[in-house]
Amino acid sequence: MRSTEHIGIIGAGIVGLALARHITLHRPGTRVTVLEKENRVAAHQTGHNSGVVHAGLYYRPGSLKATLCRRGSVCSGTTARRTTCPTRRRASSSSR
Ligand SMILES: Cc1cc2nc3c(=O)[nH]c(=O)nc-3n(C[C@H](O)[C@H](O)[C@H](O)COP(=O)(O)OP(=O)(O)OC[C@H]3O[C@@H](n4cnc5c(N)ncnc54)[C@H](O)[C@@H]3O)c2cc1C
Repeated sequence: MRSTEHIGIIGAGIVGLALARHITLHRPGTRVTVLEKENRVAAHQTGHNSGVVHAGLYYRPGSLKATLCRRGSVCSGTTARRTTCPTRRRASSSSR
């Protein structure tokens, strides 16, 4: 049965937009409305970050942060290859 839900998401940064995409793909029929206070998407952190996919090296092995970084890194690589989004592998310049 198709859903009749209508879900509102506040904020059109990467988190809000990724969530909207996920719901749209996985809950057919659900209406999703993203509410954004600026006049464009990615106006804040999402549009001003360093573009680095963190490998999780700086976090305690086995911690949630380390686990999610690793998973995110693998997923990002898969998505980049599928969409031909340009990526570049390089050594980290961070001193942390
Ligand atoms: C300088 C910098 C460098 C970074 N570098 C990296 C990096 O290299 N790699 C990495 O993985 N991460 C990096 N990050 C972190 C990453 O950018 C953020 O974790 C991520 O963009 C957060 O996304 P978000 O959707 O939660 O927030 P945001 O992108 O800030 O989106 C939130 C949105 O909500 C909207 N909003 C807020 N309140 C309301 C309201 N009441 N009504 C309607 N809309 C509202 C805002 O206008 C905004 O568009 C960096 C962050 C910074 C600041």
